Amino acid sequence: MEFEVASLDGLKKLIEGCTRCPLSTGRTKIVFGMGNPTSKLMFVGEAPGRVEDERGLPFVGPAGKLLDELLAGIGLRREDVYITNVVKCRPPGNRDPNPGEIETCNPFLSEQIRLIEPRIVCSLGRVAAGVMLRKNVQISRIHGERFSGPGYFNVVAFHPAAALRTPETLELVKSDFQKLSSYLHDSELPPEPPRPEPEQMGLF
Ligand code: SF4
Repeated sequence: MEFEVASLDGLKKLIEGCTRCPLSTGRTKIVFGMGNPTSKLMFVGEAPGRVEDERGLPFVGPAGKLLDELLAGIGLRREDVYITNVVKCRPPGNRDPNPGEIETCNPFLSEQIRLIEPRIVCSLGRVAAGVMLRKNVQISRIHGERFSGPGYFNVVAFHPAAALRTPETLELVKSDFQKLSSYLHDSELPPEPPRPEPEQMGLF
C-alpha cells in the first residue's frame, strides 16, 4: 500500500488534480465513486464513459440506468451500494484502460476498498474482474461465480453496457444479479473486519 488516508473524503481530495497517468490529459472530471460509504456491497466497473466524464459520477449513462434496474430487481437502490471504477479518468474513445494505467490508479481503488470494508466486491465486466482476481479472465466462464478475497468475496457479473448490446447478455446479467443477491444473504460471508474506534477529539 502506497498510502493510507482516514476517510473517503480525504482520498477524494488526494485524487483531485491527479496527473499520475496519461488519462489525466483527456478527462473532463475525475470520477471518484458514489454511494453508501459503509455498504457491504461494492461495484467496480472498468472506467468512466462520456457521460460519466462530463458529470464526474459513475454509471450515469445508459449502462447506469440498467444498473439501477438490475439493483431494483434484487431490492436495492443505488444509495444502498457503493459504485466506482478501476480507473478514475475516462480513456480516450472509451477504449479499455491499459495495464500501466490500471496499475497506476490501483492504489486508489485498494484504498477505497479498505475504507468501505465491503463484504462483497462485484466486478462488472472482464477488465474489472481481471483486476480484482489478479489474472486474465474469460467473463463468459466465470460470471455469476464467487471467489474468496482478502476479507470479502469477489463476485463477477457481466457489465451492464454489454447487456445493452444483446438480449442474451441481458438475461445473463440478470441471473448474475440474482446470484449476487443470494450471496448477500448467505451466512458464509466472511466475518466483518473490526472497525477502528472513532478518534477522540483533541482539546487543543
Ligand atoms: S486514471 Fe487514476 S492514476 Fe490516472 S490520472 Fe486518473 S486518477 Fe490519476
